[in-house]
Amino acid sequence: MRIADRYARTQPSEMIKIFQATENMKEVLNLGIGEPDFDTEHDIIDAAAAAGKNGFTHYPPTQGYLDVREAVCDYWKRHHSLESAPDEVLLTAGGLNVPYLAIQALFNPGDEIILIEPYFTQYAAQASACGATLLQIETKEENGFVPLASDLEKAITPRTRALILNSPCNPTGRVISRERMEEIAVIAQRHDLIVLSDEIYESMVHKGVHVPFASLPGMKERTLTMGGMSKSHCMTGWRMGYVIGPKELIKIMTVISACQTYGVNTMTQKASAYALYNHDAKLVERKNIFAERMDYVAGRLNKMKRVTCANAEGAFYLFPNIKGTLLSSSDFVWKMLENAGVAAIPGTAFGKSGEGYIRIACTRSMDVLIKAMDKMEEFCSAL
Ligand code: PLP
Repeated sequence: MRIADRYARTQPSEMIKIFQATENMKEVLNLGIGEPDFDTEHDIIDAAAAAGKNGFTHYPPTQGYLDVREAVCDYWKRHHSLESAPDEVLLTAGGLNVPYLAIQALFNPGDEIILIEPYFTQYAAQASACGATLLQIETKEENGFVPLASDLEKAITPRTRALILNSPCNPTGRVISRERMEEIAVIAQRHDLIVLSDEIYESMVHKGVHVPFASLPGMKERTLTMGGMSKSHCMTGWRMGYVIGPKELIKIMTVISACQTYGVNTMTQKASAYALYNHDAKLVERKNIFAERMDYVAGRLNKMKRVTCANAEGAFYLFPNIKGTLLSSSDFVWKMLENAGVAAIPGTAFGKSGEGYIRIACTRSMDVLIKAMDKMEEFCSAL
């Protein structure tokens, strides 16, 4: 069958290949999974059931129920001092629907979008499918995998329209400091860039506080803040995300979203509003659990032969340096899976700058992490 040119060369990513390989492996210690290991809290599930029983079983407004958009505004104001109004919010089918809608709404073929490596791979696929050109900026571990302002500025051409940021970052677990954000903001202003700021891990900043990019002076009118329920409230399966941005752009994205999904599941919306108002204590509890696991795993990695691991400041990912093993990221990961039964994701799944690194997700219990680190230590010693 003939596949559309724009998808004809689509191949499973390196991450998908690892997921497929581990699917039927019973004994694997899987540190490749990018979602919290906690189930959704039962009172959130009860809120969804109650909404269904109260008649919320019909088509929702395509932008999302007003009270749910109000809950999003209230959450961001309460947690991050970001002011917004419900008409600046669109609810989406998962956070990942946000860059898709934004890219469709904003870019023509040939427009350039800056992506900072290592990056969450799906953005690239979405941008390429709409014909936008990707400018991939390499970053370095010694700079916290955050680009230098000078590198950003050098890459910008008259066709550059946007910049995608992700802090806390998947895959590095690094957080962009306020100072670095301010430097980026100056560049965004100077070159009139739109900033798509993926802040889906906003509830998991372990050191310091989360700074929404839109809260910097002059940035609100050019920033789309992407968030969602998946990571913060352990609701990956519910597929609920949202975007906060300029009202005019939200209107267009709502129209595109209506053609695509016709709104977000009604019961998911109502349960999300309940969760946004009632689960602050749980967010802190889980953030601390992830921080404790990450400290433990980073400590173990730093004692291993040929491996080093910088401290991460957020999310639940570590991005250890395995250059001392002289193996490529991909070889390291496949050999470790085969010989030690431990799964991780090659750094190159997130762009070229990921060569020499692997992504470890601390999304398993301490028991599993201890076993996995024991196995990985043996594996590295034997290399
Ligand atoms: N953005 C980043 C950086 C992610 O890591 C993920 C999921 O792994 C997503 C977006 C997707 O989130 P959602 O489940 O809300 O679509």
